[in-house]
Amino acid sequence: MAEEDRRDINIIGGGPTGLFAAFYAGMRGASVRIVDSLPELGGQLMALYPEKYIYDVGGFPRITAKELAENLIAQGTQFDPDIRLEEEVRDLVADDVGFTLLTSDGRYPSRTVLIAAGKGAFAPRPLECPGYTELLGRGLEHHVRAPSIYGGKRVLIVGGGDSAVDWALALQHVTDRLVLIHRRAGFRAHAHSMRQLHEAVDAGRIHLLTFREVRAIHGEQEVTGVTVFDNRTEQEDHLEVDAVLALIGFKPDLGPLTRWGLELDRNTIRVSATMQTNISGIFAAGDIATYEGKLELIATGFSEAAIAVNHAVHHIDPKARVNPGHSTNLRVFKERERPEAAVPRSN
Ligand code: NAP
Repeated sequence: MAEEDRRDINIIGGGPTGLFAAFYAGMRGASVRIVDSLPELGGQLMALYPEKYIYDVGGFPRITAKELAENLIAQGTQFDPDIRLEEEVRDLVADDVGFTLLTSDGRYPSRTVLIAAGKGAFAPRPLECPGYTELLGRGLEHHVRAPSIYGGKRVLIVGGGDSAVDWALALQHVTDRLVLIHRRAGFRAHAHSMRQLHEAVDAGRIHLLTFREVRAIHGEQEVTGVTVFDNRTEQEDHLEVDAVLALIGFKPDLGPLTRWGLELDRNTIRVSATMQTNISGIFAAGDIATYEGKLELIATGFSEAAIAVNHAVHHIDPKARVNPGHSTNLRVFKERERPEAAVPRSN
């Protein structure tokens, strides 16, 4: 790979923190590359809850996650970052100038690295019961690949979050043999979705069972049934089903990041007040970074991105000031908005 492909900052993660970092780096004149395993930018905002309202981002009394992601993408891509989507980060190798990031598709050199990978890659939470491993992908799934697959089938959905309830609401239109079970009476899903769920249950389109959990999944080649138990009475029931959708959330998975010699604290990376990790030139920000007093909020992710980028810029060029000054006064914006304003006039 040619040396000109070396960016100032390789940003791992294209969620809110990574996107704001990309903007901030551009503002500071630093070149960046964003690498993400997801097919689109926006991180959890787009992948997990695009329609949900967010109320605690400064300047927006209320904004949907999708709209916030769109604004962040517009802001974060204005300085032309090199964007690599659907690439899984595999390894990071130190070299003479900085680091080379190895992904499923390429080798990307940079001077510094900013890890803004949120909770890491998302691994679906497994059902811990007999039959799970053998029947995963054989009628037992964590994702709906295509609703039509379930046309007319006997389907069991497990979970009480938005994924389970949204898919129950969607699949009621392709099959009338749909059972939703959840381990308690309270649900995590949107209130609006819950109203729709209760309407569908009252109309007999979805069969809802609460305080139920899966004890075993049965089938030779494909799922043919499940044993479900009532967690208050331990009473077991056998349900004949063709498909099980285990939509019970995700667990964080830092994957290869755990092998880079970074100081970890459970599923997070320890950083100093400058957002630098224990490895000089590698910074972390957002949900993946931890320090005393840490709050996992989008608002803190933005602030941490700014701190990390300013220190990365200073790391690359010790003569560059850490403090960026106020964006209202920065030449880079004046030149873009009113090119003549930046050019001294001669009369
Ligand atoms: P989630 O919100 O974490 O919900 C997982 C559900 O599975 C919970 O109800 C949990 O029960 C249950 N559960 C967990 N482990 C279990 C186990 N071992 N056995 C049985 N049940 C188990 O996951 P999600 O629904 O996939 O949603 C993930 C995130 O994406 C959430 O923030 C969600 O709001 C968001 N999302 C949003 C939308 C949307 O905005 N339309 C759509 C999909 C997802 P407990 O409640 O008892 O813990």
